[in-house]
Formats: sequence, structure tokens, C-alpha cells
Amino acid sequence: MRIKYDNHVVDQPFLIIGGPCAIESLDQLSQTAKAISESIDVLRGGAYKPRSKPGSFEGLKLDGLKILKHVSASLNLPTVTEVLDTRDVELVAEYSDILQIGSRNMQNFELLKEAGKTKRPVLLKRGLASTVDEWLSAANYIQNEGNGQIILCERGIRTFETSTRFTLDLAGAIVAKNLSGLPVIVDPSHATGKPELIEPISLAAKAAGLDGIIIETHYKPDLALCDREQAISTNHFNSIVSLLR
Ligand code: PEP
Ligand code: MN
Repeated sequence: MRIKYDNHVVDQPFLIIGGPCAIESLDQLSQTAKAISESIDVLRGGAYKPRSKPGSFEGLKLDGLKILKHVSASLNLPTVTEVLDTRDVELVAEYSDILQIGSRNMQNFELLKEAGKTKRPVLLKRGLASTVDEWLSAANYIQNEGNGQIILCERGIRTFETSTRFTLDLAGAIVAKNLSGLPVIVDPSHATGKPELIEPISLAAKAAGLDGIIIETHYKPDLALCDREQAISTNHFNSIVSLLR
């Protein structure tokens, strides 16, 4: 897939995005990013975190954006981070190369429109209880504002099955790609919630002809402040990427 931001272009047949769920400190992001810098095309890290339970770590916000920008500049890597609120779109677009719209906001139509007004590529996650049709309609809201640079991300949907965190809808991801012509990537971290499933699901995404993956990794997975159960080590991350390249 080919994405453009500012005066840069990322052109990769299979895009690899990696980094921690949340930006926790300069040390945490820079150590994590440095360890995987040779493996990734785009660095991820959340500065604004949507949390199911109040009282959980909600991210460093502006301080997190500043850390992201600093680490991105030092390693010369483009970045993606989530924007949760229409009021923050301009700010997040100043600090990050790609805007992420999270699963819980896939049908936040005002947020979709604001992201569509920027020149930033948008990583649009599928709602955890959204159909493919609803997902593509959400993408249309962004496109209708003049922003055609959308990367769709299948991150698992809610089903009766509880053995994985969500249920990866790989077939739905392929349908979305075929119907929209947009690039579609897979998020094995949130889809499964299980470190041991991240490698096979990453390989499956590639075998299915999809356009990339986004994986959560942490330099000290046991200490991750957000989504600790699904965090993989940077060594594990690099070994998965070596199978994909
Ligand atoms: C994330 O990428 O950390 C995240 C919150 O993802 P999702 O919106 O898919 O749950
Ligand atoms: Mn996460």
C-alpha cells in the first residue's frame, strides 16, 4: 500500500505497524521503538486511550503526543496515534502522521468528518459490533470530506466465543477490501488478546492477501499499563516480522 503524509511516501506491499498500546514515558516509547525500528514501517502508541473502566490509565495526552513526535523524529519513523474527540483532531494531526479512529468511535460521525477534513491518512478500525457495510459507510464519511487516504483495520468483533478476546473476522476483512478497494490491515493483538496467537494470525493476514498488520509490543511487556495481557516482547515482535518480510 502507498500512503502519503507531508512530503513523505510509505510504499510497502505489506505494512508493518508496531509499538506499545499506550505511550507511558519517553524511556518506554524510545526503548520499545528502538528495539523494533528495523522491523516497522510505522510506529504506534496511544496518547489518548479509550478505557472500558474508569480509573484505568487514559494516556499522557499532550505529553504523550510530544513524546511520540520526539521518538518519531529521532528514528525517522512515521507514526499513528488514536484521536478520541473532535476537539483534539487538529492537535493530534499536528503531532502524528496518521490518525487512528478506534473501534469504539467507528460510528462517531462527527469525528469521522473532522478526520476527513485533515490531510492525514486515517487508520479506521472496525467497530467491535459493526457489520462490514457499516464499516465501509464509516469510511465514506471520511472520503466525503475529501480525504481518500484510508486504511481499514479488522481488529476482531464480538461473538458468543470467549476463548479469544474478540473474534477475528478474516473473511470480513477480505470482503471489505474487495468491496472498497481500500487497503485492509489486521490487528492480531486486539483480535485475539493472546500473545501466542499473534504470529499465526499475522501469517494468515498475509496469506489472505491483506495489506498489513498492527501489533502491540512493549520493551517490558509485564509492566505495560494498558492491554498488558496481549503485549509481546520486542524480540518476539522482531521474530514475527522476520517471517513476514
Ligand atoms: C488500540 O489500538 O490500542 C485500540 C484501543 O484499539 P481498538 O480501538 O481496536 O480497541
Ligand atoms: Mn490496545
